[in-house]
Amino acid sequence: MPYDHDNARQSAIEAITSWTNLGRRAPKSATPFTQLFGMNVFSDDVMRARLPENVYRMLRNTVKKGEPLDPCVADVVATAMKDWAMERGATHFTHWFQPMTGLTAEKHDSFLSPTENGSAIAEFSGSELVRGEPDASSFPSGGIRSTFEARGYTAWDPTSPAFILDNPNGTTLCIPTAFCSWTGEALDKKTPLLRSVEALSTQAVRILKLFGSTATRVAPTAGAEQEYFLIDKNFYYARPDLINAGRTLFGAKPPKGQEMEDHYFGSIPERVLACMFETETELYKLGVPVKTRHNEVSPAQYEIAPVFESANVATDHNMLIMETLKRVADRYGLQVLLHEKPFAGVNGSGKHVNWSMADDLGNNLLKPGATPHGNAQFLIFLTAVIRAVAKHGDLLRVAVAHAGNDHRLGANEAPPAIISIFLGEMLEDIVDQIAKGGATTAKAGGELKIGVSTLPILPRDPGDRNRTSPFAFTGNKFEFRACGSAQSISGPIIVVNTVVAESLDFLATELENAVAAGKDLNSEIQTLLQAAIKESRHIIFNGDNYSEAWHAEAERRGLPNRRSTVDSLPDFISPKSTALFNKYGVFSERELHSRFEIFLENYRKTLTVESYLTLQIANRMILPAALRYQGEVADSLAKLKAAGLSVPKNQSALLDELVALVDDLQAASDKLAEILEEHPAGTALDHAKHSRDVVIPAMNAVRAAGDKLEGLVASDLWPLPTYQEMLFIK
Ligand code: ADP
Ligand code: MG
Repeated sequence: MPYDHDNARQSAIEAITSWTNLGRRAPKSATPFTQLFGMNVFSDDVMRARLPENVYRMLRNTVKKGEPLDPCVADVVATAMKDWAMERGATHFTHWFQPMTGLTAEKHDSFLSPTENGSAIAEFSGSELVRGEPDASSFPSGGIRSTFEARGYTAWDPTSPAFILDNPNGTTLCIPTAFCSWTGEALDKKTPLLRSVEALSTQAVRILKLFGSTATRVAPTAGAEQEYFLIDKNFYYARPDLINAGRTLFGAKPPKGQEMEDHYFGSIPERVLACMFETETELYKLGVPVKTRHNEVSPAQYEIAPVFESANVATDHNMLIMETLKRVADRYGLQVLLHEKPFAGVNGSGKHVNWSMADDLGNNLLKPGATPHGNAQFLIFLTAVIRAVAKHGDLLRVAVAHAGNDHRLGANEAPPAIISIFLGEMLEDIVDQIAKGGATTAKAGGELKIGVSTLPILPRDPGDRNRTSPFAFTGNKFEFRACGSAQSISGPIIVVNTVVAESLDFLATELENAVAAGKDLNSEIQTLLQAAIKESRHIIFNGDNYSEAWHAEAERRGLPNRRSTVDSLPDFISPKSTALFNKYGVFSERELHSRFEIFLENYRKTLTVESYLTLQIANRMILPAALRYQGEVADSLAKLKAAGLSVPKNQSALLDELVALVDDLQAASDKLAEILEEHPAGTALDHAKHSRDVVIPAMNAVRAAGDKLEGLVASDLWPLPTYQEMLFIK
């Protein structure tokens, strides 16, 4: 043992550097990956092959056209699903749902049914497929459930395909479901998402009708670019903060961070590549169309992104991506960190949620059209989004507000907490001309007059990229960049769907009325868009969102700047928000309030856990190491004195500094402990404010002392793996 004091950190480094599995290769599959894709999914193809023609058609009408499902098909589908799953080795099924924990939940039931004569058969009925009844009492409900009863129901979502989770220790059929109370109130992230999809579809179809389209449904589409960190599992186990809070609560800035800018798109380390490869293989089997992988800005940070899908399926698939990453990384001795800010001082992780709308004829409604007709329609949808964000930017902010994301938003890396839209030069110019009204010249040249017959073809180039904008138009979709890496994308998509539905509703109503009154559609569109853009122009900002100047400018424009979760969350239950979500049937007032409570509680609990961990690490890991080192230095000085030598002033200064820092650490941790003993009165919002204003600064003070000690205490005594080690030893 090369160290006097063997500690978890030293053991971790030794384990990693002597790990024989470092060269482990991802298993090569005999099946070509094109055939792997979707092999564990009860897909449309499987259904067509296995279901009677009429049942298949009915189910498909539900999936594609949103028609209610005839209960008589459930039994037939259930049997086909069970047979298919059992052929693949499944013994159990589960209703897979997404409670307000932000994770997924599953309760497994066996297909096995005992018979009267003592044997057993495999059974799975339509009612088991359609409805489940997990005990809801242990999931967050924000007060909804306790006033009624503990029961919660899961309801099959036929619009997201069932799949098989294949584990070495068992194979399970997973059925995506929504989770509600018995009164039908949503207890999960899927129910309101499905409601918002409906709302958006209804309103978007009205616009399409005005243009003579035969489309009957519009679905939001989404593709989420997922950022994450991968570090060696041995380091993870030596860091109680990573295990329990998902982020480091201590850690001095390493000599080398991301300043060399040598990680982004750099070559991917072999072990990481093997892990990514196996993750992708597993995801292909589940029908998740993952497409790109690359290094991100920070060392040890990576990104995985799928091809976009319907928003509901994309949301389920993003949950599967996060879970699969975790599961597979383990096989390579790696730990995935999904937290928004695992390491202070280097880049945090986000999730760019790309969003658009597609009709059931396959048209992307945010793609500038090839004809003037298509462009007028495009401009209506574009204007609807601009108007929606201008009216409800506060709700977009709420959708990304949680403790983890507070470390990013507003800091100098992620988009700021001020919501604005980036359009690019070309579109901004067009929008400005619309606002001025009348015939003007487009930048690309030519006459620009809105109208079904006169609008020129728009150049397709989306213009420059702007990485600083929280909500950017990127050619044929919007990219909502403020989302946190660990959060479900359901919340952000629910908000975007609903606010856009409202604007489409407004525009459709105006245009329908005008047409009914015999007015000319072209000139009505011109007038309406002009007014809508004028009213919303302040939300468009193409400049640098990080700059101080923008903060001042945004304030002049009256854009809200909700710096923290606690500032933002109350907007969720404002009269404006309540009216909006009620009108489109997405959240009832009770559901909004219950979610508000859950979000606040979540915030408070996160900070409480972090505080206790801070104390634990300060008192039981850092303090003992610092005291040992202080003892060593004191001993060494005493030895000098005993030998009759004078103590050099720099050495006694080191001891003084240590003594002072240890004192700071203790004082700060005593203060934090005291604060945690306080139980301030007031509402959940008051408690959250207390956490933000009192607990966080106290925690930061402990960290400051701890991080200074890290720079002083002998390396062989330091118990916590350092930033340098975690980020660079692979
Ligand atoms: P970037 O340059 O930001 O990486 P990409 O073109 O690679 O942009 O797309 C990023 C993500 O956007 C991908 O997940 C992609 O599938 C998704 N995307 C592309 N088109 C759409 C669309 N119409 N709706 C939703 N997401 C889309
Ligand atoms: Mg992107």
